[in-house]
Amino acid sequence: MKGVHQQLYTVILLILSLLLYGCQTTSSVNKTRTLAEQEAQGLIHTGLQPLYPSQAHCLEVASFFADRTRYDGSLRTVSSNNGYHGGIDISVPSGTPIVAIAAGTVVQVARGGQLVGNKITLQHAPADTGWPLWTYSKYQHLAELPDLAPGQRVKMGQVIALSGKTGTAGKHYGKAGYPHLHMNVYSSDSSHFMIKGHKLIPDHMRYVDPLAFYLGKELDSNTLRLLTPEDKTFAVPFMDTSGNITPPDTKVVWPFLCTPS
Ligand SMILES: [Zn+2]
Repeated sequence: MKGVHQQLYTVILLILSLLLYGCQTTSSVNKTRTLAEQEAQGLIHTGLQPLYPSQAHCLEVASFFADRTRYDGSLRTVSSNNGYHGGIDISVPSGTPIVAIAAGTVVQVARGGQLVGNKITLQHAPADTGWPLWTYSKYQHLAELPDLAPGQRVKMGQVIALSGKTGTAGKHYGKAGYPHLHMNVYSSDSSHFMIKGHKLIPDHMRYVDPLAFYLGKELDSNTLRLLTPEDKTFAVPFMDTSGNITPPDTKVVWPFLCTPS
């Protein structure tokens, strides 16, 4: 009998320690990051200024990376991401095709719930972008879950989803919601990531101003912040509705096709 009790005791201890380990892992992932931690990861206003083409009409950024305000000028709630915008917003009618900003591999298609909605995330290898790091582009509030599966390769400019307003209804945006694309870019020194719930977390994740992706060279937020206003202005590389790419050698394009004017 004593042996049985000892075995039972050992099993209970094992279960308890596994539970404890699970809790620690979960809390370190789900823990709300402080603003200082986020700034250290690159969530800093860069002041990059897109110069839109004159020969085509492109949808413009309505709220920039690390902005405290929404597209309508209202202040973001501090309870979400410490009140700082983790990506860019482009206001757009629901059902507008979204294109892959660079060649890559689908790594996640998921429903994110309130504030996130339907989303797709692409992983870009250094060869896809010319950046020395692994990068991720994430597209949120999609009208529906795209018919793409993790592991599938996509080309730059390929339609990957239709824009929508999922996850935006209620609270600030009211019953009607806010049709727009919220796009994030992250970088990592490795190709590894973990998926926890609906969240995809790259190893050693860093925030990237999505606009920095269009500069053609990898610069972190702190370096970008110190550039002159002139150096912060860049021509938006894009694909037009006929499939023409400007400039022809770009590895990154705007997330919406531009209409020739
Ligand atoms: Zn946003």
